[in-house]
Amino acid sequence: MVTPPAIRIDNLVKEYAPPGPGEPPKLALKGVSVDVPQGGIFGLLGPNGAGKSTLINILAGLVTKTSGSAEIWGFDITDNPRNAKRSIGIVPQEIVFDPFFTPFEVLENQGGFYGIPKAERRSEELLKAVRLWDKRDAYARTLSGGMKRRLLIAKAMVHSPPILVLDEPTAGVDVELRRQLWELVTDLNREGVTVVLTTHYLEEAEQLCDRIAIIDHGELIADKPTGELIGMAREKIVTVTVDKDLGGPIMEEAFVRAEVIEPRKLEITYDRDKASAGQVLSIVQSHGYSIEDVTTREADLEDVFVQLTGPG
Ligand code: ADP
Ligand code: MG
Repeated sequence: MVTPPAIRIDNLVKEYAPPGPGEPPKLALKGVSVDVPQGGIFGLLGPNGAGKSTLINILAGLVTKTSGSAEIWGFDITDNPRNAKRSIGIVPQEIVFDPFFTPFEVLENQGGFYGIPKAERRSEELLKAVRLWDKRDAYARTLSGGMKRRLLIAKAMVHSPPILVLDEPTAGVDVELRRQLWELVTDLNREGVTVVLTTHYLEEAEQLCDRIAIIDHGELIADKPTGELIGMAREKIVTVTVDKDLGGPIMEEAFVRAEVIEPRKLEITYDRDKASAGQVLSIVQSHGYSIEDVTTREADLEDVFVQLTGPG
């Protein structure tokens, strides 16, 4: 039996109205199709302006699609918006709160909005999960940025949706808070929640997500398990320390790049389909140098990203 996807996006197009008279409309999504499998942490990765928030906001019902379709937990967002919305919790990129409500009230109000009877609400459990129980009676405006983000996550989970979507949860967030948010997201995922997060941090996607889609200029350019995506990086980098000062870079056909980074240190980038580390070292030796030290760097997501999105 094939498990249906948590989210199915089919040929989604979004054209924003022109910003002014005489200006062209902005095509933010150019026919994006992608499935988010159930049960994982799915990363939607892309540079600023790629169309990530547009996609998320269409799922959230905040932006109207131009064409194409999307299903959330099997419910079409246009034909069955109520059930679609009930199946997803969304933490928007922008933090917006009524400053005069307390965290407890924010969650209670949201529970009321979803018609959840008082006795069945999870406000206490959720505030404890995001470590805001001691702040339950503080005004939202007095919370720190990090606390507000955690409160937004709790708010998104009030109706116990099977899918949680976080739009740039760690943009502009310090290291400690980022770690806390990652932990919270992993915990929720372990409890069975399918998580989707958008980010322009490669490292974040690499560490957190088991599957990554890359979007650039409104187009999907990759969609793969994280390991496979990283494996797509063909370039490898080897740094060689030699026994005497280098006269100049040793450039060979087998290399993509060779750069002298210190008088006795050479950084060589090669295509692993065309050469091996052993060959690289023999070439250096054939130029009359003895090798004193070697370090290699595995391809990471950044390499893939640069290859796929091109320079600049
Ligand atoms: P991301 O979240 O990946 O940074 P967005 O979805 O916010 O990207 O934006 C995608 C493109 O659509 C950008 O070029 C942005 O300027 C444009 N855009 C976003 N929102 C609007 C809007 N409300 N009206 C017009 N253009 C918009
Ligand atoms: Mg965005």
